Amino acid sequence: PRVIFSGIQPTGIPHLGNFFGALLNWVKLQNDARPEDKLIFSIVGWHALTLPQDPQALRTARREILAVLLAIGLDPRRSVIFHQDANPDHTELAWILNCLTPVGKLRRMTTWKSKLATSRNANDESEVDESLLNAGLFTYPVLQAADILAYKATHVPVGEDQEQHLELSRDLADIFNRTFKARSSLFPLPQHIITPSRRILSMRDPSSKMSKSSPDQNSRILLTDSMSAVQKKIRSAVTDSITGVTYDPQNRPGAANLLTILAACTGEDASAVAARYADKGHGALKADVADAVEEVLKGPRAEFEKLRGQTEYLDGVARQGAERAREISGETLREVRARVGLV
Ligand code: ATP
Ligand code: MG
Repeated sequence: PRVIFSGIQPTGIPHLGNFFGALLNWVKLQNDARPEDKLIFSIVGWHALTLPQDPQALRTARREILAVLLAIGLDPRRSVIFHQDANPDHTELAWILNCLTPVGKLRRMTTWKSKLATSRNANDESEVDESLLNAGLFTYPVLQAADILAYKATHVPVGEDQEQHLELSRDLADIFNRTFKARSSLFPLPQHIITPSRRILSMRDPSSKMSKSSPDQNSRILLTDSMSAVQKKIRSAVTDSITGVTYDPQNRPGAANLLTILAACTGEDASAVAARYADKGHGALKADVADAVEEVLKGPRAEFEKLRGQTEYLDGVARQGAERAREISGETLREVRARVGLV
């Protein structure tokens, strides 16, 4: 049987990138799962703390993300849906894995390198300044490995920006298995489930991915955006001034992003979509992208509006999810402690 684990940070309402890169796949996996498969989806609050968060905004985001997950079709009777921060097994395992992780491996994480690149020494611009970054930011890929391994997950559906972190999770599973050998390996090596719909880019700056934590609200389309907000953001999406539409992610990333979004909405291939717009302009493409996105969002948005005020129901789902999560991870942690010698 498969154990599927994935997570999302409570750093804001999920956007189209989260949806096509991960969440839509979570729902598909749930609906296609066999009864013996386990599905575990986590709202990972501890990861959010690696960047400064306003406490009130974090509280709101935690509740709203849960409502969004239910609104897009995750079903608490079939999937374990819970807050990571309600299960301390993650942090305990993370500590043990930290003690098995070579620092050099963490320095090679592209997420760390890109954060470093933005923290230049004030006196010497060519020097990076690690003192500006917190230790959580350095070591959170290990926490991510713990999230996955605490459930002995076999499959992890995440966007392509998480590929390297998943590789680290496999490495750490392997290091643990070899360091604490017994009759059998404790951890299976978790596999990436490739999402057919690729990376969605920022609507304002197509050189970066669409992101919850970007300060520019117009860079992302939220799953809860109104029809007029969707239209406005797509109309003002950055493209280029070349006539006609072609799918050319290298040279025309903004237009390619719109084609990717439209293709993801209709389940087609982006270059096939591009062929239909070869003789048309960006205006026509944008109008159709807005319609297609609205078609995808209107159901979840209505469901979200219904759920967001039902705090008792949402709290109940979270509580039950945390209990079920702790049952599974508790078993793993007992085995981990026994192998390490902490009993
Ligand atoms: P943050 O900016 O706070 O990191 P995020 O938008 O990157 O937020 P995460 O919570 O970090 O969202 O990631 C949730 C899931 O969404 C992950 O599986 C990630 O790979 C995927 N994902 C995030 N952004 C995109 C994107 N632009 N395109 C495709 N998938 C994405
Ligand atoms: Mg992210």
